Amino acid sequence: MRVLNKWIQKEPSKNAITILKDRYFLKDGEGNYLESTWDEVAKRIARHVAAAEVNYTNDIEEIKNAEEHFYQLIKSRIFLPNSPTIFNAGKTMDRQLFKKDIEETTLEDYKTIFDSRTKHNMLSACFVIPMDDSMSAIFDAVKNAALIMKYGGGVGYDFSVLRPKGSSIAGTGGKSSGPISFMHVFNTAASTIEQGGARRAAQMAVLRYDHPDVFDFINSKKDNKGNNVLNYFNISVNIDNPKEFKKMLEEDGDLTLEHPASSIRKTIKANDLMNKMVENAWKTGDPGMLFLGRHNQYYAMSEHTPVTATNPCGEEPLPPFGSCNLGSIDVAKLVEDMDLGNPNSPDISEFQEIVYWAVRFLDDVIESNIYPLKEIEEISKKQRFIGLGMMGLADALYKKELPYNSEQARKFMAKLTAELAYFSHVASTELAKERGNFPDFQRSKYPNGFIPFPMLDDEIDEDIKVWNEKIRQHFQGEATKYKRNVQTNTIAPTGSISNLADTSSGIEPNFLLSYVRYMTNKEGDRVPLSYINPILMEKIGTNMTEELKAEIIEKGSIQNIDSIPNEIKKIFVTSMDIPPKDHLLAQHVIQSYLDASCSKTINMPKSSTIEDVKAIYLQALELNLKGLTIYRDGSLETQVLTSSSQE
Ligand code: UDP
Repeated sequence: MRVLNKWIQKEPSKNAITILKDRYFLKDGEGNYLESTWDEVAKRIARHVAAAEVNYTNDIEEIKNAEEHFYQLIKSRIFLPNSPTIFNAGKTMDRQLFKKDIEETTLEDYKTIFDSRTKHNMLSACFVIPMDDSMSAIFDAVKNAALIMKYGGGVGYDFSVLRPKGSSIAGTGGKSSGPISFMHVFNTAASTIEQGGARRAAQMAVLRYDHPDVFDFINSKKDNKGNNVLNYFNISVNIDNPKEFKKMLEEDGDLTLEHPASSIRKTIKANDLMNKMVENAWKTGDPGMLFLGRHNQYYAMSEHTPVTATNPCGEEPLPPFGSCNLGSIDVAKLVEDMDLGNPNSPDISEFQEIVYWAVRFLDDVIESNIYPLKEIEEISKKQRFIGLGMMGLADALYKKELPYNSEQARKFMAKLTAELAYFSHVASTELAKERGNFPDFQRSKYPNGFIPFPMLDDEIDEDIKVWNEKIRQHFQGEATKYKRNVQTNTIAPTGSISNLADTSSGIEPNFLLSYVRYMTNKEGDRVPLSYINPILMEKIGTNMTEELKAEIIEKGSIQNIDSIPNEIKKIFVTSMDIPPKDHLLAQHVIQSYLDASCSKTINMPKSSTIEDVKAIYLQALELNLKGLTIYRDGSLETQVLTSSSQE
């Protein structure tokens, strides 16, 4: 593929290599590096995942063809799988099998790779673990979660099933200590685990808005200074029906807090709940809101296995014991040569091909994955969740000279996501024809012509109308018979992999145009990684004096630099330059074409008031969102990135 060839030649930056070395290159038992180049990593992942094709064919050429496509996608960094796939593929296996040239690799080699997989080869980033309202079930869940986190997966839980604090316990005659006390147990367990030997564990706690302990839940991270209280948790309040809740707020209605396993009942004002959520979110960013009713509306298996929580960053709703492996296409690289989002683009088949191979890769990961629990393996193989998304959106917009906070950019985002969703679903249908439907297909909503996302109105744009028509035809036609994966699209934060790809993360605007990022290496030393956005560097060209560079590094944004022309300022906006409502609208248009969800933070300036935060929370209840996370600048002490002036 033409565009892959161009990027295969480009080596990762110095920053990317530093991260690879610290977190991703394989090491032996004594800590000696077994790898030293990106090429070796790409080959290892491609071969490990392609080995899953032995389940479908004995034709060695077909398997090699798959490996070659996977290798090109990864080596070019046009597509990267989630971190666990990068650091766990091929781990603890015979190195010689990965060193052979592809020409010399035999069918036996692929079979050996497939058969020698062990618990170390856990490849997914996202899990949801259920618990029952009993001591043994809670501690089973702690153990299950620990196993997942150990190998690099993030875990979400619905704590709503636990009876509220103070409820009677029949067996002991005592009183329950409530869901928040148990969250601390999970938090402590997580604190002892270093994921894949490389990073912190991450968890999501969900609680229903009408659980009697909801105020304790909302307050559970109130005193968080970033590193002390429940620091291995994000917390989200589940409001099943956001429009109904909004009505309750407008009518200043009462809300009854109750739980099926308890006699505790409290009546509160819905507005008091909202105000508390907003106040705490203003202080620390937590809690977020989650709309599981909407998730289930667009989930093809909700009638049998409704989703109950999301993974830690909120982009992947899953049923109990669900898992999902993610991958992201770097659209910033592609926009240089492709007219993405345009349904009449002459190179559209090339993008379709990239998406096909990315979907096939993620579908193969389901087979080549080793699951931490048999319950997880069962549902993951019955429904076959995959999450293909994108990274590099902000850099793509810089290259296309579209300000992130403009109507034009939003149309581009919608068309691009529609195109990605359409081709992903077409690929999943093609794979189903070759490999069979996901086993639960007949019980799902797909045979009835179900469309797994809301879509935007036809009227807003001619191209959107074209994508909508293609999507409708697909889901009313072939998709009623063939679907390999229950869900296909998720947009991850890509917090680490976007650095490997030297691109902006996920669908977020750039947080800063330049920064010094401190990475703590294995020895515990803080290593500075300095960065200035390369697209901006190129745009300013020879006018980029050393003095100007220093000023950009100092400020992180260019909005208050007089010597930079207004046209450039308009395009090169950062998270904090963008009004919160434009963050929300970007999330809305992108979410309209996602069957799963996306990771997005609504960044707000430090000066925002509690009322400003409330306005965003209220707007989120109205739009077609599946959740909301806000972050007010400076509200947590451990902000991940800071411009150099703040360091
Ligand atoms: N995740 C995790 N720990 C981390 C970062 C991520 O468990 O420190 C999981 C979590 O489920 C998150 C998902 O990985 O939602 C994807 O995160 P991201 O895209 O940032 O990961 P990357 O693949 O870039 O490492």
